[in-house]
Amino acid sequence: MTQSEQTNTGSAPCTARAGSRAPVREHLCDTYGRGIDYLRISVTDKCNLRCVYCMPENGVPYRPHEELLRIEEITRFVGLAAREGIRRVRLTGGEPLVAKGIVDLIQQIRAIPEIEDIALTTNGVLLPRLAPALKNAGLDRVNISLDTLDPQQFGRITRIGKIEDTLAGIDAALEHGFDPVKVNCVVVRRLEQDIFGFARLSLDRPLHVRFIEYMPIGNDETRAHGALDPESATYDASLWGQSDVVPTSELVERINADAAREGMPGLEPASDNVPLGAGPARYWRFPGAAGTVGFISAMSNHFCSRCNRLRLTADGTIRPCLFSDDEYPVREALRFGSDDDVLAIYRAALVHKPEAHGLIDGTARFMSQIGG
Ligand code: SAM
Ligand code: SF4
Repeated sequence: MTQSEQTNTGSAPCTARAGSRAPVREHLCDTYGRGIDYLRISVTDKCNLRCVYCMPENGVPYRPHEELLRIEEITRFVGLAAREGIRRVRLTGGEPLVAKGIVDLIQQIRAIPEIEDIALTTNGVLLPRLAPALKNAGLDRVNISLDTLDPQQFGRITRIGKIEDTLAGIDAALEHGFDPVKVNCVVVRRLEQDIFGFARLSLDRPLHVRFIEYMPIGNDETRAHGALDPESATYDASLWGQSDVVPTSELVERINADAAREGMPGLEPASDNVPLGAGPARYWRFPGAAGTVGFISAMSNHFCSRCNRLRLTADGTIRPCLFSDDEYPVREALRFGSDDDVLAIYRAALVHKPEAHGLIDGTARFMSQIGG
């Protein structure tokens, strides 16, 4: 980024908040009139799992400690971003619960008056241990990632995980009163996941199950390592392609057909009473169910015109679009600069947020480095 780009912000306050159900208030708008009020922060690039679609088998070489943002630096960034209209924060990773100081960070962000909502995306493994402290610190809600209900397949997808750990994380999230609790499932046709089984999780407990399209994020060089036998091909994400995308309409049909076979009523649109932070998901529910079933189709039906977010990576760059490698380094300014230095970079990132993503085929960073 050049100096002139930094100073030529062009960003302006706006009151429109496209696609939002929240009360209208002042935000900085980007060049395309989208009010930006949502910040996703990757607090670490480290993880206690190795999901095949997120990072290579041996993990991503971790950044040296001094290149990662410290807790106080993240808090400082959120405080300044809040001045520019950020109202909601999501902590992600890598696995945010392996980050030292995660509880302190939540406490510090909670103390920023403008921040209305703090959420966390996790694989759930450490939730049974940390849920009480996270709740006390002021965390509002959690999304837990779970892509299969089959213990063996869970082991294949996460390479080193045990399904009972993530299931215990879901139980802990409900027990400790996080609301809503969402379960995110990345759907990949060749994985033949039990979609109806997932949807049923929403019946008895207030779980909001969301089916998410696989996105080709990551570095091709490391992604493509060529699988030979069919079993390996199933779990080699470098071989996953367009034919693995399962459209929402098909998922709804499959769920309803299975429901009919069991004598259950099918899904109906949940146009009101959708869980907080609905964002780009479309929600359905079984009549009388405690939870909902949502669908996020970032690839086949992208929602760029309603995108209200910026991302902060663990090593301190602002990433205006998940799918674009265009980034705005802010670590040095956070460490050594004035508030105005940080804000100039923030505004430059905001003003250069692209209108839409094009066709995507990998990115320089892995998902674990961006935060999803
Ligand atoms: N470790 C945490 C977790 O797994 O929830 C947070 C970080 S993870 C990168 C955030 C989300 O991104 C997870 O729900 C994960 O399933 C999703 N994800 C990772 N790689 C993806 C990909 N290539 N396509 C779609 N979703 C992906
Ligand atoms: Fe770790 Fe989450 Fe990536 Fe899985 S999806 S490897 S749990 S960061």
